[in-house]
Amino acid sequence: MEIIQICPGCGLPAVAVNVEAVKYNVVESLQDLINLKNKWSVCVNPACDCSYFSRQIKFRTSDLIVPLFFKDNSDPVPICYCSNLTRGEIKKAVKNGCKSIDDVQNYTRKNITGMCEERNPLGKCCRNVFLRTISDSLNKD
Ligand SMILES: [Zn+2]
Repeated sequence: MEIIQICPGCGLPAVAVNVEAVKYNVVESLQDLINLKNKWSVCVNPACDCSYFSRQIKFRTSDLIVPLFFKDNSDPVPICYCSNLTRGEIKKAVKNGCKSIDDVQNYTRKNITGMCEERNPLGKCCRNVFLRTISDSLNKD
């Protein structure tokens, strides 16, 4: 079982993340600080500006090349990081009749997938968040 790490910024439980996602999403100038052998976690508390951390080091959200969908709920934030498909683009696609992930991918012509392990800031497939974003948008109409 995975031991849950506590965020050094806010003290809340964080989520374990693979180092590929850390390496991909931290800005170039701080790459040397990433120890590949460490266990990495990410703080998912929207009120906290800590992003990835290990026992030795902690990064801020501003140390990343992308905004985090779980901390920033504004429209320009990506939901699918493989395609750089944003929350606003999904909302617009739903407004124009899209009801599924396939619909949205066809409508926006953003259908690149499969690089979630490094591109998605959680290192996981965006599918569930994508579906939730669609259903949230559908429920608003
Ligand atoms: Zn935190």
